[in-house]
Amino acid sequence: MTDFAATKAMFHLPEGVIYLDGNSLGPLPLAARDRIGSAMQDEWGEMLITGWNKAGWMAKPMALGDRVGQLIGAEPGHVVMGDTLSIKVYQAVASALELNPARKVVLSDNGNFPTDLYMVEGLLKSLGDGYELRVVDPEAVADNITEEIAVLMLTEVDYRTGRKHDMKALTELSHANGVLTVWDLAHSAGALPVDLAGCRADFAVGCTYKYLNGGPGAPAFIYVAPRHADAARPALSGWLGHDAPFAFDLNYRPGKGIERMRVGTPPVLQLTALEAAMDVWDMADMADVRAQSIALCDQFIEGVEAACPELTLASPRDSAVRGSQISFRFEDGYAAMQALIARGVIGDFRAPDIMRFGFTPLYIDQTDVARAVEIIADVMQNRLWDRPEYKVRAAVT
Ligand SMILES: *Cc1c(COP(=O)(O)O)cnc(C)c1O
Repeated sequence: MTDFAATKAMFHLPEGVIYLDGNSLGPLPLAARDRIGSAMQDEWGEMLITGWNKAGWMAKPMALGDRVGQLIGAEPGHVVMGDTLSIKVYQAVASALELNPARKVVLSDNGNFPTDLYMVEGLLKSLGDGYELRVVDPEAVADNITEEIAVLMLTEVDYRTGRKHDMKALTELSHANGVLTVWDLAHSAGALPVDLAGCRADFAVGCTYKYLNGGPGAPAFIYVAPRHADAARPALSGWLGHDAPFAFDLNYRPGKGIERMRVGTPPVLQLTALEAAMDVWDMADMADVRAQSIALCDQFIEGVEAACPELTLASPRDSAVRGSQISFRFEDGYAAMQALIARGVIGDFRAPDIMRFGFTPLYIDQTDVARAVEIIADVMQNRLWDRPEYKVRAAVT
């Protein structure tokens, strides 16, 4: 059984704050401060360029890929870290399209995060005539998986509502129709158990600054199924994805398997912070995390619904089809969220009217949820949000 009191003690959580936004940016793992300090002083400072070999900087993207891979059911040696999630979406969809050359349609849904759709739009424009991005309602995805589709690209858990797709069933249906799958795990990795190998997913991508707690700007990851790893061509063919980067060959030759999905120089300090975060994950069992996340989410729904009739649940009530976040709709949701943040309950707002709260058992417990419900009840019942200063929109919501 995971000791959640022990994992909570491994994070810096500011005094007086109940942090329900770890689905957007995880908090600081305490050990990251020393790790980064030492990487700066002892490695960058003292070793200078020899750190690439001596401190193992160059090996970090694959080593950390395996550690993240364990949380998402990937086969060892088939996940690599680097770049941002937007870039990894582009790479995965480009490779998947090339592996299915007779078809030209990418299918996605309107619950997807906009950047995933934007990246594919840009890619398809470069590929030229005949390519199409087809975006349907989440409930209509299964019916639209046909022999016309080349690639199904979905985010497993909806960033606004927490609605969860059935990865296994949709992947099976895709394969039965000759469709390859790209799964975005931005709101799955570290939030719930994922079984990429068991689902026979073709490609998967995700970020590490949300539930995985790697810090602002932490690198993304990409998974390519072993059966495609030596056939997939990386559309972004950078030197570190070359078979022999330090041969400085003038022609590109893809590296072995997943290594070819590397592009350029890895973000060593960010990877160092991620190592500290993964040490906390080593103490957690994902089945325990899931059970506790469901308990916290259910407690939150029950408490908020009992106290605040003006808030409408936007997330699925059934935990089986939900990720690790709860959203409520409220017309003045932006102002209400600012009033909550001013009182130490940090969630976020997603246009047009969604108040979003993430539940992360590594550092949020039942007492936190009960206290958050009390503060939300106070803000709603006493209309504490109805003040001009809470209605001024900041750049990041
Ligand atoms: C958070 C998120 C992103 C962010 O992409 P970046 O390139 O890391 O900024 C992309 N897709 C989804 C589904 C997300 O939830």
